[in-house]
Amino acid sequence: MPRKGQRNSRCIRGHARTPNNLDKYEKCIPCRRQYLRQYHVDNRDKKIENTRQWRLSNPEKSRELNNRVRVLKYGVESNFRPWMESYFRTRQQGRCFYCGKMMVRNCSRYSPRKENLEHLIPFSRGGAHSWDNTVLACFGCNMKKRNKTAEEFIQETR
Ligand SMILES: [Zn+2]
Ligand SMILES: [Zn+2]
Repeated sequence: MPRKGQRNSRCIRGHARTPNNLDKYEKCIPCRRQYLRQYHVDNRDKKIENTRQWRLSNPEKSRELNNRVRVLKYGVESNFRPWMESYFRTRQQGRCFYCGKMMVRNCSRYSPRKENLEHLIPFSRGGAHSWDNTVLACFGCNMKKRNKTAEEFIQETR
């Protein structure tokens, strides 16, 4: 005659219900570990997705976050604020500083016409993250320029 409770000698997921396997509320410890692991995985994906969405709807702030990281990395001066971008946009009439073509704001970040914040003198060459070292340029030009200074790049493409 099995004693009451022996019937459930295994939990719903098949873990043995030994005293070592149960917490003080008689809940299965491996199950809880499994649950927490899954919770972490699910929320990591959710978190990544939330960040992605935030970056898509806040391109200026997102760019600024990336730039702050690079400012620290290169130890350059920084007085730039994301709201300054709209002044550049007006000043350049939405055109790329280098090729003069119209830029697109809301498109894939790898699209050649994608609007990018550009440093005339790159951080790697000691340029500051400042309003007077910054213009808007298309992704295509940005990629071609790489770590050249604006002067070098313009001379080269002339
Ligand atoms: Zn279990
Ligand atoms: Zn361009």
